[in-house]
Amino acid sequence: PSEVFAPRRNSQGFAMTDIVALEPLRQRLAALETQSFTAAAIVGGERRQGAAQARFSPIDLKRQIGTLVATDAAAVEQALNLADAAQDDWAATTAASRATLLDKAADLLEARQDEFLWLLSREAGKTLPDALGELREAVDYCRFYAHEARRLMGSAIALPGVTGESNELRLTGRGPFIAIAPWNFPLAIFLGQVTAALAAGNTVIAKPSRRTPLIGMRAIEALLDAGVPANVLHYLPGESGGLSDKLLGDHRVAGVAFTGSTGAAWKINRTLASRDSSIASLIAETGGLNAMIADSSAHVEQLIIDVLMSAFNSAGQRCSALRILLVQDDIADQVISRLGLAMQELRMGDPLQLSTDVGPTIDTLSQRDLKAYCDKLAGTAKLIATTPLPAELAGGCYFAPHAFEVSLDQLPTVETFGPVLHVARFKGDALADAVHRVNKLGFGLTMGVHTRLDSTVDVVRKLAKVGNLYINRNQIGAVVGSQPFGGEGLSGTGFKAGGPHYLLRFACERTLTINT
Ligand code: GLU
Repeated sequence: PSEVFAPRRNSQGFAMTDIVALEPLRQRLAALETQSFTAAAIVGGERRQGAAQARFSPIDLKRQIGTLVATDAAAVEQALNLADAAQDDWAATTAASRATLLDKAADLLEARQDEFLWLLSREAGKTLPDALGELREAVDYCRFYAHEARRLMGSAIALPGVTGESNELRLTGRGPFIAIAPWNFPLAIFLGQVTAALAAGNTVIAKPSRRTPLIGMRAIEALLDAGVPANVLHYLPGESGGLSDKLLGDHRVAGVAFTGSTGAAWKINRTLASRDSSIASLIAETGGLNAMIADSSAHVEQLIIDVLMSAFNSAGQRCSALRILLVQDDIADQVISRLGLAMQELRMGDPLQLSTDVGPTIDTLSQRDLKAYCDKLAGTAKLIATTPLPAELAGGCYFAPHAFEVSLDQLPTVETFGPVLHVARFKGDALADAVHRVNKLGFGLTMGVHTRLDSTVDVVRKLAKVGNLYINRNQIGAVVGSQPFGGEGLSGTGFKAGGPHYLLRFACERTLTINT
C-alpha cells in the first residue's frame, strides 16, 4: 500500500463470529420490531409535512414499518434554490473541515448501528451478515472520501512556469449535485455518492430509491447531525410529479451521481443532454451480466461455495452478482450435479434469522418479473435446481434461487436482477472464445475465475473487459479502498467508487497564475 493510504483504516464492523456480542445484538434488534419510521423530504433542515402513505416490509407485505410523505413540487424548487445559494460558501470551506464532518458522520453511523441493521433488514430485506456488510461499507465511504478530500483537495499543486510567474492548480467543487441511489444498497451506495459529492465541495440533493425512503432518511439525518449545514444537503424521497425530470432539467445542477439500471442511466443522460444552458457531468454505475469461468483445474468444492455466494447472496440483487457460470466441459457434469445439491441446502427465510441464507426480493414487481423470466426460460433451457421455498414465506416477496443449463448460444443478453443463474459448458480449447462471448454482451462489471492454471488467469486477464476481476473467490462484496468498484461499457462511466480517482469526477480544476 502506498503511504497515502496508510493512515486510513476500514471499519472494524461487527464480527458475526463474536458469539458473546451476537446474542445481545439479536435481542436489541428484536426489541426494535415494533419500530415505525416516517420519511419525508428534508429541505434546509426542515422536515416537510403532508399526507403519509404506509410503507410495508418485503418480508411480509402486511407488516407496516413506517410511512412516507412524498416530496411535493415546492420542496424540489426550494431544495434547488438553497443548494444553489449555498454552493459558493460550501466550496470555499477547507477540505479538512469537510472531512472532519464526514468522519463524525461515520462515528454516528456506527453508534446507530442497531437501527440501521434493523431498517436494512426490514425495509430492504437484507440478511444480518449483508446488513452488517452494508453498514460497514457506508462507514468506510464516509471515512474514505474524507481521506480523499484531504489528500486531493487539501492544498494546491505548485506547477512550473517562466521566471517571475507562479502557477498552481487546485481542485474545487463543481456545483450542486443530484445523487440518485438504488434500493439494493440503500445505505452504502446512497451515502457513498452523497459523501463523495460533499467531500469534493458540492452541495447535494439526495434522492433515494422510492423503495427505500426510510433508510435514506436516517442516513441523511446522520450527516446533518454530524454538522453538515442544513442548506448544503437536502433529501427528496418519493417519486411524484416528475421529481427526477425537474431536478435533472434544472440548469443549476452541475452533476449527477447515479447508480441503477443501464436503461435509467440512458434516460438521465438524455434529459441532461437536452438542457441547453449548462453542461452537467454524469457519473453512472449501472448493471452487469457477470460471468464466472471455471476450467477443469478448478477446486470444485470452493467453486460451488463461491458460485452460491456470488449468485444467490442478497437474493442475487447486486449488480456485481454472478449471472453466467461457464464451466469447462470435463468438469461440467460434476459441477452441475453438486450445484443442484448445494442449492437444496440453502435456507430461505426471515433475513434476521441466523439460519437464513437467502432473504426476499425487494417487492412484488420484482418477484413477478423473476417468475415470468424463469417460466419463459424453462421452455428452452434445462432447470438444474431451485431452492426450496417454505410455504410460510408466502406473505413476503420471496423468490427461490433458480439455476438453468443453457448453451453458449443461449446466454442471456439482459440483466435479470435476482437469484437466477445460467450455466453453460465450454470446450477445453475454447477459453478465449468464452471470454469473447461474455465481452460481446456489452456489460463490463465483475468476472470470476476458478482455476489452478496461471495460463488461464493470463488469458482472462488479457481479454476480459471488466472493472472487477476476482480469481479463486466469490465476485461480490468489493471492499472500499481495496477493491474500488465499478465497470465499463454498459456497466458505467467510472471512475470507481471507493477508489483513488472517484473524487476527481466531482471536482473541477482551476489554475492560478501570478506575475510576481
Ligand atoms: N459493490 C457491491 C459488490 O461488490 C455491488 C454494488 C451494487 O450492487 O450496486 O457486491
